[in-house]
Amino acid sequence: MKILLTGGMGFIGSSLVRELFYNSNHEILNIDNLSYASNTYSIPKEIKDSDRYSFLKINIVDQNKVEEIFHQFRPDKLVHLAAETHVDNSISSPDIFLQSNVLGTFSLLEASKKYLINKNHSGDFMFHHISTDEVYGDLSIDQNPFTESSPYMPSSPYAASKASSDHLVRSWGRTFGLPFTITNCSNNFGPFQHREKFIPKTILNLISGKKVPIYGSGNQIRDWLFVEDHAKALHILIDNKKKYDTYNIGAKNERTNIEITKLVCSILEDKMVDKPNNIKKYSDLITHVEDRPGHDLRYALDPSRFENEFTWQTDVSFEKSMLHTVEWYLENAKNL
Ligand code: NAD
Repeated sequence: MKILLTGGMGFIGSSLVRELFYNSNHEILNIDNLSYASNTYSIPKEIKDSDRYSFLKINIVDQNKVEEIFHQFRPDKLVHLAAETHVDNSISSPDIFLQSNVLGTFSLLEASKKYLINKNHSGDFMFHHISTDEVYGDLSIDQNPFTESSPYMPSSPYAASKASSDHLVRSWGRTFGLPFTITNCSNNFGPFQHREKFIPKTILNLISGKKVPIYGSGNQIRDWLFVEDHAKALHILIDNKKKYDTYNIGAKNERTNIEITKLVCSILEDKMVDKPNNIKKYSDLITHVEDRPGHDLRYALDPSRFENEFTWQTDVSFEKSMLHTVEWYLENAKNL
């Protein structure tokens, strides 16, 4: 199968490229504009050198280029992950979020529509759109996790741009008959995540003896999913013929930000005998800072629909995945 994948030099996209390359025979064309959030080290040389993988530096907003790629590559599936993803940046500079997340998705939808209309391909073309739990807004402590039918109530410009893109995908399905699936997943963690994100920033600050800023009390709850488990879930969906469906993908693993920070500190206490800057304990570096505007208290997803239809579950325990993640950042900090 020929897979056109957007955002494959990013954190989740590159994990999916590695998953598909090592566990299928699919041919992959990765398109990415190599923004600051991308990391070319995330694709191993063995993949870059293979006939089954190619890469093009493209901004997905450029519809003519995207159409040209459809025409030449003739994909069986589009897997769309390219997006601006950092909530803090969406508060300071929302415009690029509307460009890449809304207009970028629109450009891919239009190119897909033309590709279908021109009968330029022979198989069951599918548009897989990767989205976030943040489209649902936040939950109080005692509410049930979000299901696929929960209403959209995005809080940040990032979440609103992703919600817009989900609506566009659904409407191209309903109005133009474009076959699609949408997955809304919870917070991912693991190797190759950009250092601006919460877990890498926490690890990298701690090992270099810098303060670790925690928004407000640190009691915000997220459902943490190991990126390789997410990539496996997407691989299952890509190999399936389901269409016009939406799935929540989560790990049923709710933790507060302060719990995560303390877990990282305790892993480092075991791993790193020599502490930086003469600190006594890593946890001494935790500093509470003013909360960010519109900060959601809790995200939690009910993934039972996906789990039941596809018999998917996370592979290893959260603690083991976190240990692996911290060890990875200790070894690879220089390539980030
Ligand atoms: P990321 O920021 O690590 O990577 C995004 C990639 O997209 C980068 O390589 C970047 O260069 C590329 N990109 C951005 N704008 C582009 C454009 N206009 N044209 C071409 N390429 C462009 O993001 P990620 O964490 O890997 O997230 C991937 C997808 O998963 C996103 O759609 C995001 O909304 C979604 N998601 C992420 C998480 C998470 O916890 N990381 C959770 C839920 C959903």
